[in-house]
Amino acid sequence: MKFFLFLLLVVPSTSFAGWKAVGNAVGSDSRIKGSKEMQSVLSQISKELGGKTVEVFSAYRSQTRQNQLRAQRGCIKKKCRGTASKSQHTLGIAADVRAAGVGRSGLNGALKRARSKILGNRKGGVGMYCGAEGHIDLGGHREWNVCGSSGKKSKKSKKRK
Ligand SMILES: [Zn+2]
Repeated sequence: MKFFLFLLLVVPSTSFAGWKAVGNAVGSDSRIKGSKEMQSVLSQISKELGGKTVEVFSAYRSQTRQNQLRAQRGCIKKKCRGTASKSQHTLGIAADVRAAGVGRSGLNGALKRARSKILGNRKGGVGMYCGAEGHIDLGGHREWNVCGSSGKKSKKSKKRK
């Protein structure tokens, strides 16, 4: 009986992590699942969004895949932000995310709040792509804002605080 109650209490809270892998990230999210810290961050993002499901559309990427993405964006010879040669994605400690019905600034705010609550103020990268899609990782504390096929930093983002 005690065990049954234990299941009742524990299963519902662990079965909904607040996030799910979609598209290409399905399968490559196993490394995220292996990182308690990354899972905590993703769950916290969901909480910051009022319980909305966070969709992870890119998780682990092999260095080969990362190089392909860089080539597609023309980032091999010139430096592009947002598609780094040594991405946290290749280490399996990064996730590109979005959530249905959540706008760009709403997502950006949720990513930053989740970062500070789970990782503190000295760790974690938060990046925003075009539209309402963002990136979070367990690397050093930094932020960026990119838009456009070249991944160049937008002029607007510099003025925004
Ligand atoms: Zn990313």
